[in-house]
Amino acid sequence: MALKVCEIFLSIQGESRFSGFPCIFVRLSGCNLRCRYCDTTYAFEGGEYMTIDKILERSGGSPVKLIELTGGEPLMQRETVELTERLIEKDYTVLIETNGSIDIGALHSKTVIIMDIKTPSSGMSDKMLFNNVRHLKKSDEVKFVLSDRRDYEWSLDIMKRYELTKRCNVLFSPVSNALSPDTLAGWMLKDSLHVRLNLQMHKYIFREKEDGLRL
Ligand code: SF4
Repeated sequence: MALKVCEIFLSIQGESRFSGFPCIFVRLSGCNLRCRYCDTTYAFEGGEYMTIDKILERSGGSPVKLIELTGGEPLMQRETVELTERLIEKDYTVLIETNGSIDIGALHSKTVIIMDIKTPSSGMSDKMLFNNVRHLKKSDEVKFVLSDRRDYEWSLDIMKRYELTKRCNVLFSPVSNALSPDTLAGWMLKDSLHVRLNLQMHKYIFREKEDGLRL
């Protein structure tokens, strides 16, 4: 069994309730969406085929036990589910960042799912699989990436409709150069939301530099 891998590296987790912790990232190749603000277009094509054993060996080069599968879209590859299971067997805390358009139902119950719900400004909101919401656990996270006030109001409506704050953690993340964090924070305070303001911490730390150590 092999997966197409774009890169494996150690960095600081920057976009969830785990942000600030050292974390191993396995970035898988390929994505079925094309969000307007995508900052990982380099993961769309290419990559190296690796067996699950090889990925475990590369990750095991670090003593860090927090690992995130990301992309691209990691669930585009069927073998990703088995990879999460093998990592959990090895006592990793496994995060998976998924774009919300692919069924998450087969993932191991110990996987921490960080699921995007794509807002209108992404151009991909009609690709969301809202049935996924029923699989979310208290330990999971839903992330809305917001460019403007329209995205904000759309997200409030979705949150209410699916009672998201009762099901899981909810994150609001501003698109850099489109919506300033202080504007978004102001809206959230005014509405007293039980939502986490999510800034991309790794971008503040590393700026334009290489954002971690290759494994
Ligand atoms: S889902 Fe993620 S990787 Fe795919 S296009 Fe959107 S932002 Fe980029």
